[in-house]
Amino acid sequence: MAKIAFIGLGNMGAPMAVNLLKAGHGLVAFDLVPEAMQQLADKGATPARSAAQAVAHAAVVISMLPAGKQVRDLYLGTGRVLASVSTGTLLIDCSTIAAEDARAVAAAANSRGLAFLDAPVSGGIAGAQAGTLTFIVGGEAQPLEAARPILEVMGRNVFHAGGHGAGQLGKICNNMLLGILMLGTCEALNLAVAHELNPAIISEIMRSSSGNNWVLQAYNPLPGLMENTPATRGYEGGFLSHLMAKDLALAMNAALASGTSTPLGSVASSLYAMHCANGNDRRDFSSIIQFLQGGRLD
Ligand code: NAD
Repeated sequence: MAKIAFIGLGNMGAPMAVNLLKAGHGLVAFDLVPEAMQQLADKGATPARSAAQAVAHAAVVISMLPAGKQVRDLYLGTGRVLASVSTGTLLIDCSTIAAEDARAVAAAANSRGLAFLDAPVSGGIAGAQAGTLTFIVGGEAQPLEAARPILEVMGRNVFHAGGHGAGQLGKICNNMLLGILMLGTCEALNLAVAHELNPAIISEIMRSSSGNNWVLQAYNPLPGLMENTPATRGYEGGFLSHLMAKDLALAMNAALASGTSTPLGSVASSLYAMHCANGNDRRDFSSIIQFLQGGRLD
């Protein structure tokens, strides 16, 4: 069993770390929020006073932080992770960040003889809890094979997207599509409800028809139609709107860098930015259905 340092115990990181503990791995945990560390300590992890302390004796470091700024700071800046790990430590960042940020950390790690993988995930909090995430990995094949048994504790699928940054690009393309699918599904549901169709029945009709997609299958944005969705919990928890806005902005930067036309992604990016500016940044991203209805109706 590996000695793992896990940094970032939020909505995704905490359940991922719990699955590693359940599989018998030794875990040292660090988060800026003491309560997050305490909850994991109650499940058998050793809390650390700093990221540097957490990684000092680890064979594997896993990070799950909000955005590129925090990841760069953790590995290259005040977190001092690259300066604190032992030779041979495998570094895996599961946050969704820009490919350039992942490549910058990978280059700095490689220059110290350390292997780094960008390994963002898809599957949401439910997937993190159930251990059924999809890992989209960028980096070299050899460290990926070393990481695979650990990733398979937390996920069902592990894809090698390509070299450093390719995992992030794969993830960003997926989330641009998810943002577009969420908005399209919200529009169709709002139109049906405006014409007094039963929301449960129209959801089932579309799920059984050519409009079927993951939002209808697992994440219906209308409250009360599915158990365990953020919509049914007042849009609490889940995948926060500011994280979707961040991912869409990353997609727009990637589109600009490659001269790719992404008109629907661009609209989705603007709508999520407006939704966040209206005070919904800490609500689940499915709450955008209320923005399309013209306001907060809950
Ligand atoms: P979150 O905000 O719930 O958790 C982030 C955690 O990181 C927090 O507990 C925070 O205190 C901690 N943190 C921030 N800076 C830190 C630092 N310097 N050192 C230690 N801890 C620090 O976010 P989340 O929903 O868990 O998402 C994490 C990443 O996973 C994001 O990049 C997000 O885009 C991605 N993601 C999220 C979901 C989802 O459904 N929530 C799904 C797939 C991918």
